[in-house]
Amino acid sequence: FHRAACDERPPPPRRVGPAHETRCLFPEDVAAAPETEAAPAVGNAPHGSGADILRIDAVSKFFRQPSRIPFLRPRPPVRALDGVSLALEAGRTLAIVGESGSGKSTLARCIAGLIAPTGGAMRFGETALAGLARQRRRDTQRRLQIIFQDPNGALNPQKTVAEIVGRPLELYAGITGAARDARIAEILESVKLGARYATRYPGQLSGGEKQRVSIARALAADPEVLICDEPTSALDISVQAAVLNVLVELQRQRGLSNVFISHDLGVVRYVADRVAVMYLGRVMETGPTEDVFAPPHHPYTESLLSAVPTIAGTAHGKRIRLAGTVPSPAAPRSGCVFHSRCPRKHGAICETQDPPLHELPGARLIACHIPPDELARQQGAETSMEASPA
Ligand code: ADP
Ligand code: MG
Repeated sequence: FHRAACDERPPPPRRVGPAHETRCLFPEDVAAAPETEAAPAVGNAPHGSGADILRIDAVSKFFRQPSRIPFLRPRPPVRALDGVSLALEAGRTLAIVGESGSGKSTLARCIAGLIAPTGGAMRFGETALAGLARQRRRDTQRRLQIIFQDPNGALNPQKTVAEIVGRPLELYAGITGAARDARIAEILESVKLGARYATRYPGQLSGGEKQRVSIARALAADPEVLICDEPTSALDISVQAAVLNVLVELQRQRGLSNVFISHDLGVVRYVADRVAVMYLGRVMETGPTEDVFAPPHHPYTESLLSAVPTIAGTAHGKRIRLAGTVPSPAAPRSGCVFHSRCPRKHGAICETQDPPLHELPGARLIACHIPPDELARQQGAETSMEASPA
């Protein structure tokens, strides 16, 4: 929205609504801008190779719960992941979205080998992935790196940045001495931290800087796949973009493949080529990002999208408020896992039968009892009603 007038002086506050002032010379331009211009899509760039680098087939993870009373019947397990199948194309970004508790971190930890899945299979390129990282070849460990949500817990406070970033260099590549220091400086530069950070301790860094050190450590292993578990959620909004852009740029430069976990759909739209929407340990819908963001989509995706504020402060279409709370992942389930909260519940079938997987172009899958053309009709009708002038 920048124009020449913006360079001349700081804009005075302007009243744009009741109890709403903004320091911008052209707030009308911002309000009039079409939604898509606010979020330039960096995904879908021609950096994919067509081959899947990571495949997850029917992966489940059940956590046993000890019984409350000794020797009595154990409680039912927590079904954190329940038959999840996904594929990540080399050089691309697959986003995993869903409310808290939907199993995103459990999936990330299974792929990274921090916990072993209860069932299913994972493949990394041509090789089967063992459940736990320590059962995997060191080279496989190197090629698959993970970045956690909270950089505070991920970095050893006793080690300097140079020691943290230098460790994978020694471990995986045997790089030591001056070569190691030069490489550390280079990696710190690539995450937009200068070499002067090398001697600092994590306690002397801001949240955004710490997260960039986590990324630097992952990069030092020279990975092919980066699993990012809500890498910006613990960060201040002002540094989120900086960290995201580092990730996007690294993908462009190195052809990295990313699994990007987030509950922020705005961020997902910005970084992802494909999206998988999870609810209670299941994938409800998956497909190319722009397709998933447009109807027809799964009623759960629809409700998530309706909660995303637009730049003008309103929601997409009609705001859908989901009734009730997410059911316990340990509760017995029947039918569609979303049926208890679904605003488009179809009938008794939703409570008793697993929904079929409808396949749409672009390897798009929607798990719903309502056929896609009917979903399109219902969702399209409401969207166009919203769009028509009152
Ligand atoms: P998300 O990352 O999407 O918020 P998680 O994968 O962290 O979700 O958790 C999914 C479900 O699994 C939650 O209900 C959580 O309480 C449960 N869970 C995660 N880890 C464990 C564990 N070690 N033991 C028991 N339950 C767990
Ligand atoms: Mg999580």
